[in-house]
Amino acid sequence: MNTTDPKQSNYGGPCPRCGGAVPNAAAPGKYPGALSRYDNETYICSGCGQAEAMWQYVRSQEGLDITLPPVNEPVPV
Ligand SMILES: [Zn+2]
Repeated sequence: MNTTDPKQSNYGGPCPRCGGAVPNAAAPGKYPGALSRYDNETYICSGCGQAEAMWQYVRSQEGLDITLPPVNEPVPV
């Protein structure tokens, strides 16, 4: 793995969405976490990755816009 890739600059955290460890508090830095669906290049923590997926799923079921907020903001609830 190329850890000098600037897209992996937040490898190990903090997660830009929640400030937590990436991929999670139990194994910080062990693996890159989730690729944000917002820009497809920023790594976020596992929890926020799941939150993005759930948020988009629920919104799509309701026929709403699924454009995520910028990756430096929390996933809406
Ligand atoms: Zn997070």
